[in-house]
Amino acid sequence: MTVKHERNSVSRLTLQLNDTCNLRCSYCFSGDSARTGTTVSEEDYGFFLGFCIRNGLRGVRLTGGETLLHPHIHRYVRLAVKVGLEVNILSNFTVSEAVSAFDVPARSLSFLVNVNDRDSYSSEEWHALVGNIESAQQRGYSIVLGYTAHTGIVHIPHIIEIGARFKVAKLRISPSKPTIGGTNTWLAPDDMLSFSESVMALYQILHSVGIRLVLDCPIPFCHIPEQFLHFFLQELRLSGTCGFGSSVNVNLDVGHCYITNSLLTKRNLRTFATMEEIRMFTAGFASDIDKSCPLFDRCTKCHYFILGSCSAGCYGIRHECAPLAGTSHV
Ligand code: SF4
Ligand code: SF4
Repeated sequence: MTVKHERNSVSRLTLQLNDTCNLRCSYCFSGDSARTGTTVSEEDYGFFLGFCIRNGLRGVRLTGGETLLHPHIHRYVRLAVKVGLEVNILSNFTVSEAVSAFDVPARSLSFLVNVNDRDSYSSEEWHALVGNIESAQQRGYSIVLGYTAHTGIVHIPHIIEIGARFKVAKLRISPSKPTIGGTNTWLAPDDMLSFSESVMALYQILHSVGIRLVLDCPIPFCHIPEQFLHFFLQELRLSGTCGFGSSVNVNLDVGHCYITNSLLTKRNLRTFATMEEIRMFTAGFASDIDKSCPLFDRCTKCHYFILGSCSAGCYGIRHECAPLAGTSHV
């Protein structure tokens, strides 16, 4: 008997497959203490896929650590595709020839490739990264390039060049956030003038080579200098509010995101039957975290808050910046 599942309003669930990484990015949300060498077992992976299928999800996102270092990544992707799930992998793409070993159909697999500053790579790492992009293109796997901005200067001609060469449609800029309890570098309010200038210039260059620029994760609207706010809101659809989703970590614990993990109570995926239960659970997190990371004092008088379009961005930013003075948009 074939069981037909209704598609869920959450279309995919994220699973951290491992916590090992070959790079040491200063902005990394997870930090050294989180690198324990743990990988998701076949049994746990099977449970995760079953949960996604039972809940009518369309696909899964696999992350790490460095996802392509998982010893069974190619078989795990094959298994997900076999049960009808699309797979999106977040990777740094520096594991040599990892992409050429995937053999699933083009429509079933896509990648979000996080690329760093050019001078942070050895020549072998850069060669591996470009080779994997080339392999993905030859196999028809779609790619979004990503860059995590951790200083105000976004100078990424190497990413523009590979984006144009391999006809990548989209580049995602993620403003780096402070991990609560962590020590990562992040994009602070003082960086916002140069960040805004850099992003505006980048937008124009990318437009001229047919690449769409998108922003990931919110920024408090009052951290963007006034003269750039219209551009960020209109062209980049800047959000000022955390979307508060769910993800499953390498121990199969359900959580929110790396930024807030230290504040969260852990609960294993095996104790949930439905996505709705997960949604209720993470909604509970949101109200707990609201207490640990309150809104800025000025927010309640701000018209963006009153309109519901900004609530001081990311919880990490709220945690770090609450004591700072700033302008409200009353
Ligand atoms: S709601 Fe708060 S964080 Fe957002 S723009 Fe207004 S004062 Fe700034
Ligand atoms: S707290 Fe929200 S906005 Fe901040 S990193 Fe996590 S998901 Fe993104």
